[in-house]
Amino acid sequence: MSEHLIWALESGAVKRLDERWKSLTASAPTDAFQLVSSLQAQGLESEIVVLGGGLGLLAATALQARGHQVTLIDRASVGETHREWNSSQNELEVLKQLGLPHSNVVAKTYRTGYVEFNYQDPSGEKPARGWIPGVLDVAISSTGLLSQSRAQFLALGGTLREGESFKHLEVSALETRVTTDGGTYHAKLVLDAMGVLSPIQFQLHRQPFDWVCPTVGSVVKHLEGVDENIGEVLVTDRGGDGLGRQLIWELFPLEDDASAVYLFHYAPLGQEGTLEQLFADYFKLLPEYHNDARAEHIKPVFGYIPSRHKRRHSSLPRVVALGDAGAWNNPLTFTGFGSNLRNLPRVLELLEFALKFDTLKASDTVQIGARQSNLELLSWLTRFMRPLKHDPQSVNRIFNAFVKSSNRTDPARVKRFYKDQSSSLDFVALMYGVMVEHPSIWRHGLEQLGMGELVAFLSAPVVSMAREAKSWAADTFWETVKDRLTPTQALAWKASALEWQAMRSK
Ligand SMILES: Cc1cc2nc3c(=O)[nH]c(=O)nc-3n(C[C@H](O)[C@H](O)[C@H](O)COP(=O)(O)OP(=O)(O)OC[C@H]3O[C@@H](n4cnc5c(N)ncnc54)[C@H](O)[C@@H]3O)c2cc1C
Repeated sequence: MSEHLIWALESGAVKRLDERWKSLTASAPTDAFQLVSSLQAQGLESEIVVLGGGLGLLAATALQARGHQVTLIDRASVGETHREWNSSQNELEVLKQLGLPHSNVVAKTYRTGYVEFNYQDPSGEKPARGWIPGVLDVAISSTGLLSQSRAQFLALGGTLREGESFKHLEVSALETRVTTDGGTYHAKLVLDAMGVLSPIQFQLHRQPFDWVCPTVGSVVKHLEGVDENIGEVLVTDRGGDGLGRQLIWELFPLEDDASAVYLFHYAPLGQEGTLEQLFADYFKLLPEYHNDARAEHIKPVFGYIPSRHKRRHSSLPRVVALGDAGAWNNPLTFTGFGSNLRNLPRVLELLEFALKFDTLKASDTVQIGARQSNLELLSWLTRFMRPLKHDPQSVNRIFNAFVKSSNRTDPARVKRFYKDQSSSLDFVALMYGVMVEHPSIWRHGLEQLGMGELVAFLSAPVVSMAREAKSWAADTFWETVKDRLTPTQALAWKASALEWQAMRSK
């Protein structure tokens, strides 16, 4: 085992996360929550309890700033994270808009970034490089943002309970009661922001997300060949491996000749392997990606990033899932920070509406989240990120064709694609380009998906177009109809209208 790997694993944190992951995904808890007919007020009273102080802290601070009484509970200390986040400039505007800390949160900005899939074309043609300026062009100082938010939350009068682990939730039609290992909390609404391994979501859905991106890496100084103005957004330097994985690199330059470097792959639940194994691969393969002869590893970064591809029709009353617990992350870039931040204003608007009219039944709360139906369409591409068993070059071939055809298409369309704003028509146009570039994609699709799923894939843009039309109509006619709707209808209508705006925002 390399000295670096020992360093990354010595705290035992990676192993512990792997073990928690295996145990929760193998058998979901049955005692995380309970639906009860009534509850007696008991414990600390507040309007909203937020469980989890990562992205939950941003929501808690914004809600406290809007006059709600919020209690935030986290088993660890709040105001720091072991993640590095990158994002797009326009997503940060939300911080200003919501009155959250926005100075000293940018660690670095880049001129541009690229994607490149290392397909070795038999003709000798070099892999295509796709430039994507304006996409994931900012590295966030995650600790800077969270520590300032923590201070702001407290200054606004929010109640913070750190070092307390969530144990149990009881939900009645009118209220909720949270029990931790340190106390009891009574509230109208619970926001579950306990991340990818939220026991509430596992009990509720058994499989709360569809695919997962096991990700490891480090913040590392003095790698060679890094251009400090350029982000390496999705890059492969080899084909698929014997474990059915296509390993992908991501690199974002930081200050002082440091970079955040990740290695990840895409997997359906059950085929994700372990982070420990992936860390071993990371240190073995890093020198082939960027010469690391002088490298100095500052800290490890690791985790499982979830992505949900399908909508649901019901949730828990009075409980809304945020962040990785909600799992509405981009299914290709898995950028949970960006998509949750960008969608936070509409989530808050819907939460406030639901609180005001007390529309918090299970069929209401399911309307609230960072869901974008155009990303459900994109999730089909995630399935092509697993190499075919007999063809290790399959991912590189198909995504190299995607990059080549993107380079020939309207740059605005490509930008919309990477910024989660593409329409169904954009998707169809981009897929048509891949077909022209790579005519045998049909055979590949059949092999990858099977006949039933291939048909579903081909009809997905039509389903998505219908959803877009519904959202567009909801947005267009909202003012006309809003006074004629019941609160429950209005919440669903508003959610659809705001989803349209989210998919089309600049
Ligand atoms: C290596 C890596 C790199 C990433 N890079 C990017 C990126 O560049 N850009 C981007 O947009 N996204 C990125 N992501 C994804 C992004 O980090 C996540 O989507 C985001 O951090 C999710 O935040 P969260 O608050 O939902 O979950 P978490 O960050 O997991 O926070 C959950 C919180 O809940 C608390 N908690 C958990 N269980 C309990 C309990 N039982 N009781 C009390 N508290 C509990 C935890 O202590 C924690 O504070 C990356 C992820 C990883 C793993």
